[in-house]
Amino acid sequence: MRSIQKVIQGVQTMDGAGVNLTRVIGSMELNMLDPFLLLDEFGSDNPKDYIAGFPPHPHRGFETITYMLNGKFHHKDSAGNEGYLTDGSVQWMTAGRGVIHSEMPEQTKGLVHGFQLWLNLPKEKKMIEPAYNDISAERIPTVDFEGGSARIISGKFLGITGPGKPHTGMLYYDVVLDLSIHFTMPIDNGWNAFIYIYEGSVQLDREVNRGHLIVLDQEGELDLTAGKEGAKFIVVAGEPLNEPVARGGPFVMNSKGEVLKAFEDYQNGILDK
Ligand code: FE
Repeated sequence: MRSIQKVIQGVQTMDGAGVNLTRVIGSMELNMLDPFLLLDEFGSDNPKDYIAGFPPHPHRGFETITYMLNGKFHHKDSAGNEGYLTDGSVQWMTAGRGVIHSEMPEQTKGLVHGFQLWLNLPKEKKMIEPAYNDISAERIPTVDFEGGSARIISGKFLGITGPGKPHTGMLYYDVVLDLSIHFTMPIDNGWNAFIYIYEGSVQLDREVNRGHLIVLDQEGELDLTAGKEGAKFIVVAGEPLNEPVARGGPFVMNSKGEVLKAFEDYQNGILDK
């Protein structure tokens, strides 16, 4: 079984036009976990924390996977694509060679809670056509088992395959466990894997509480026990790309030159052309 490699606590930060969020991957403490470039948790019942949203901004070279536990967001891009994220839904956006989009809250009060994960694209796919997979809550299958359930966003668990279509090997589940339930699941050997606990706690080699990310060892299966109040966590794993990563704000390429080219294309108005 996989033991704990490290435990990370997210850092409070501000992004977009003034959205308060917790950055868990993509910070000083954990810059990336190949192929994952960033994980943000946004969670607040104070509209001031999210209402400014993310006005038009560019991306190139990776995918963003936004999972809403609660709340409504509206997204729109410069190519005319438009969609709504509502409770329990996912937007899987493949930026490829370039999109300019906005992600704005559709609601002005109440709880907004969710995650945005950045999944890197392999070198040969960084400049593919942009694409969207808007996945409604109903399209995400739930697998029930003794003492819990899992929503399968991507990958296959207990014979059920999720609707996500990653360009490299990757799984993403949202797991809910009753108190003290023992849970195991297979993960391909060699894949990088993490869990992020957003409610309750889990016990592996030690107890880890909500608001923490556990980076797991690269071999074996996930094996844990939910704490006294149960546990809710996302588990994400992926095949490492092992390629050079050059980041420049919203662009993630393989070299500095390619990042500069992305800024140039954006300034010249041809990023998404
Ligand atoms: Fe974005």
